[in-house]
Amino acid sequence: MLFETQIIAHEAVAEGTHEVTLKRPPDFAFKAGQYTQIMVPELTKADPKGRSRLFSIASSPEDHEYLQVVFRDSGSGFKETLINMPVGSSVQVEQAAGSFILPQKLARPQVFVAGGVGIAPFMSYLCQKIPDIWEHPITLIYGNQSPESAAYLHELRQMSKEQKRFSLNDIYKRPTPGLFLKLAEKYKDAVWRVVGPPGMVATTVNGLQLGGISSGKIITESFEGY
Ligand SMILES: Cc1cc2nc3c(=O)[nH]c(=O)nc-3n(C[C@H](O)[C@H](O)[C@H](O)COP(=O)(O)OP(=O)(O)OC[C@H]3O[C@@H](n4cnc5c(N)ncnc54)[C@H](O)[C@@H]3O)c2cc1C
Repeated sequence: MLFETQIIAHEAVAEGTHEVTLKRPPDFAFKAGQYTQIMVPELTKADPKGRSRLFSIASSPEDHEYLQVVFRDSGSGFKETLINMPVGSSVQVEQAAGSFILPQKLARPQVFVAGGVGIAPFMSYLCQKIPDIWEHPITLIYGNQSPESAAYLHELRQMSKEQKRFSLNDIYKRPTPGLFLKLAEKYKDAVWRVVGPPGMVATTVNGLQLGGISSGKIITESFEGY
């Protein structure tokens, strides 16, 4: 099902990283962790992959007024078109989909691993006001090339000061299986949720499995296309 909506705002949220805020259609239901497809009416720069892309929703389902997505500005025709569409322009969004959602009740500590804009579904999780989410410790391992290219870093640092069960481990080096092998030992009882480009997800899962984390405790979302 497709919904017609409008762009409310554009914002550069980190170096080379763009956030688009859309008006949330009244009947657009989603759970934190799901994604949508955004379709522009026409491309102003040619794109062999066409006029739509999938994006995880970065805003909270509790925000009924708007939907936010975040992406690296790669220079692709689709993204150039979307970035340059003025506020008020119409786009279409597809009904939300995906199973990268949290269970009703968390039974264990959680480790979230985000590579770059893989932070999007975690922002949607973390911005919910439900207190239950904080019943167990949550650690966010957030990898970027530099602090300047890490979207929402300020908000996440603030959250780690305010929520005693939330800790942020921001890292600025290429992920290796060795890094996650060590982290697996530190958080061996946790459920691991890993999001980012396919190569980063594969490296992380490889390291966790070498570190003894069973595949049943690793949940992934690969941003295919990067
Ligand atoms: C479930 C799911 C959720 C996703 N969620 C997100 C999300 O929240 N955020 C997000 O950013 N992505 C997300 N993706 C991936 C997204 O759908 C795109 O595939 C991705 O953003 C790359 O799109 P693109 O338009 O940049 O590159 P594409 O056009 O698909 O090309 C791939 C790469 O080629 C290069 N390239 C392409 N065209 C040009 C050009 N004209 N000039 C220079 N270089 C070029 C770029 O490096 C680009 O990254 C998700 C994917 C899935 C499956």
